[in-house]
Amino acid sequence: MATMRKDFSIACLVILTISSIAFASEISSDFNLIEIAEKNYVHIGKHASIEAEKNDDIANIGFIVGDTCVAVIDTGGSINIGRKLKKSIRKITKKPICYVINTHIHYDHILGNKSFAEENPDFVGHKNLRDAINQNKKFFLSQFKKNLSKDAEESDIISPNILIEKSTKLELGNRILTLIPFPTSHSHNDIVVIDEKTKTLWAGDLIFRERIPSLTGSLKGWLKTIEKLKTLDTKLVIPGHGKVASSLEVALKQQEEYFKILLNKTREAIAEGKFINEAVEHIDKENKLKWLLHDYQHSTNVSKTYTELEWE
Ligand SMILES: [Zn+2]
Repeated sequence: MATMRKDFSIACLVILTISSIAFASEISSDFNLIEIAEKNYVHIGKHASIEAEKNDDIANIGFIVGDTCVAVIDTGGSINIGRKLKKSIRKITKKPICYVINTHIHYDHILGNKSFAEENPDFVGHKNLRDAINQNKKFFLSQFKKNLSKDAEESDIISPNILIEKSTKLELGNRILTLIPFPTSHSHNDIVVIDEKTKTLWAGDLIFRERIPSLTGSLKGWLKTIEKLKTLDTKLVIPGHGKVASSLEVALKQQEEYFKILLNKTREAIAEGKFINEAVEHIDKENKLKWLLHDYQHSTNVSKTYTELEWE
């Protein structure tokens, strides 16, 4: 029965996605926008490295439309991508943008914020996000200047004015969003957004699919967060990177398997007295789970895990 129900929901998702693509391509063919659930529009980012030419369009970003106003969820890795997202919104609705929600600090989710400033939305993020952005403004300007503008200043990188400390509801007019902050996991400032009407989870980078996860927070923290995510009531999952999933089980499967390899193999290496470079050299070099961009990111993940586990 459970299998039948799952197959049915996957079939529904396929139909929904196909019809949505046809619908969305009419209104926003230039930004590859999909109405993945009722009034939930997502743009799926490309799988490219940070050094790649098109590094500003790698994250999944989008928006949700209520009766009163619109909430944007992440703004892309450049002002240009932010503008494209805003243009897509305006092809669908003239309602005001009341919230711009950033799921976390990474450039590919926040550098488009400036494109929305003239709409005067509330910028919303984890309680740690404002400090994190303020501390990283110089870094963003030096590393991602081309994603902003020739004469970009620190003030062009916009921090949240609403900080989320606990589960919080936002009202868009006959549509409620629940925002949930998490302790250090993928980053130090991860939040997720749930559209209560459609039970769509916008997971930010707490979930990666296809593309290898990047660990910048805490592996043990992230594993605990995964257990909390599993308890959420959701019907559809939009990861921060990779394709949309019909359930949390599907969305989390490969990522969890990978984290257990990282955790167990790194613990073994430390117990055997291996140095960090030896651990990096030996753990999952073969890319057992066939992640995209494995060569690019995996060594960094092992190093980060080793540093976290070596004093436990
Ligand atoms: Zn991230």
